[in-house]
Amino acid sequence: MNQTLDPLRLRLTREVADTRQRLALGGLFYLAGWAVVSSVAPVYPRHALAGVGISLGFLLLAALRVLLRAPRVDQPPERQQRWLDLQWAVMFSTAGLWGVVLGWTLLDPAFEPARTPALLCSIAFATAYAHNFTTRPARSFASIALLYLPAPLLLARSPDDRAVAVTLGVYFFYVLLTLMRTHREYQRRLDVDDQLWQQRDQYEQLSRTDALTGLSNRRHFRARLDDLVAQSRRTGEALSLLVLDLDHFKRVNDQYGHEAGDACLARFAARMNECLDEPGAHLARLGGEEFAVLLPGTSPQQAAARAQKLRESLAQDVIVLAEGRLQITVSIGVAGLDPATKEGADLFREADRALYLAKAEGRDRVCIAGG
Ligand code: GH3
Ligand code: MG
Ligand code: MG
Repeated sequence: MNQTLDPLRLRLTREVADTRQRLALGGLFYLAGWAVVSSVAPVYPRHALAGVGISLGFLLLAALRVLLRAPRVDQPPERQQRWLDLQWAVMFSTAGLWGVVLGWTLLDPAFEPARTPALLCSIAFATAYAHNFTTRPARSFASIALLYLPAPLLLARSPDDRAVAVTLGVYFFYVLLTLMRTHREYQRRLDVDDQLWQQRDQYEQLSRTDALTGLSNRRHFRARLDDLVAQSRRTGEALSLLVLDLDHFKRVNDQYGHEAGDACLARFAARMNECLDEPGAHLARLGGEEFAVLLPGTSPQQAAARAQKLRESLAQDVIVLAEGRLQITVSIGVAGLDPATKEGADLFREADRALYLAKAEGRDRVCIAGG
C-alpha cells in the first residue's frame, strides 16, 4: 500500500536528489579553471607551496562532493538536512577558494596573463549557480558573491579597468535576477509535483474505497486478504475472517425502495466500524449486501465473539429512515487460519461455507467454520 507522504518531507527529498545531481561534476570545473590559471601565471615557480595547497584544496573539495553520499529517501529528515548543509559548506568553501584565486590574479601584476581566464571562469561559475542551485537562493547568492564579487570590486580601483568593473557589476545584477527567476520556476515545479502527488493519493484512495460505505472495496480486500494470509503463515500469528451477509435484504428494497436499502447499507457499515474498531482490523464491502472483516492476531473464537456482539447490536436496534422504521439482521461466517490455509482464497472459502451454514440454520446467527 502506498503511504501518503508528508509534502515537506517530499520537498526535502526532492531537494537532496536535485542537489546531488547538480553538484556532482561541479568541482572538476574549478579544478580545470585553476589548472588554466596556474599554467599561464607563474604560480609554481614563485609560489609552489600556495600552488600545491590550492590544487589540493580544489581536489579535496571536488572529491567531497562525491564522497559525501546522499542519504536514502527513507532516512530521517535530519539526515537529509545535514547532508545538504555539509554539501553547501563544501560549495561555500569552493566558491571562497575561487574568490581567493580571482583576487590573487587581479592583485598580483605577475598574474596578468591569467586575468581573462580567471574572469571568464568567475562569470561561468556565477551563471551556473544561478541556473543550477536555485533550491536555496540565499546560499546560492552567498556563493556567487564569494566567487564573483572580487572581480568588479578590485577592478573598480583602477581607472583603466573601471569600464570592465561596471560591466561585471551589471552582469552581477543580471545573474541575481536569473537566480530569483529560476528559484520561482523551481518552486512552481515543486508545487505542481505536490499537486500531482496529492491527486495520485486521492485516486489511489478512491480506487480502494467503496463509495457508498467508505469501507474498502472488493479489490482492495482481496489484496489485503492475500497479504495477511501470507504474513500470518510466515509469522504464525492468528488471523480470522468474517464474511457477513444481510438477511432478506431484497425485502428491504422491495418494501422501502432502493434508496432506503442504500441508507441501510451505510448504517450497517457504520455499525461495523463501531463494533469492530480495533487496530489492524480491515473492513470491506465485497458488493451488494455482503461484507468482510479481516482480524489479524485474533483467534476464530475471539472473532466469533466480536461477530456475535455486532449481530446482537444490529438485531436490537431499529433503523429510522425517512421511508420508515426497519430492522435488519445479519448472518456471519467465521474462519481462522489453519494448516490447510495456503492462500487467501482458502480462508475465504471456509468463511463463506460457514456463512452458508448460518443462512441454512435460519439466519441472524454466527457460525464458525469446522465448529
Ligand atoms: P439472504 O438472507 O439469503 O441473503 O437474502 P437476500 O435477499 O439478502 O439475498 P439475495 O442475494 O437474494 O438478494 C440480495 C439483495 O440485495 C438483492 C438486491 O435487491 C440487494 N442489493 C444488492 N446490492 C445492493 C445495493 O447496492 N443497494 C441496495 N439498496 N440493494 C442492493
Ligand atoms: Mg448476498
Ligand atoms: Mg443477503
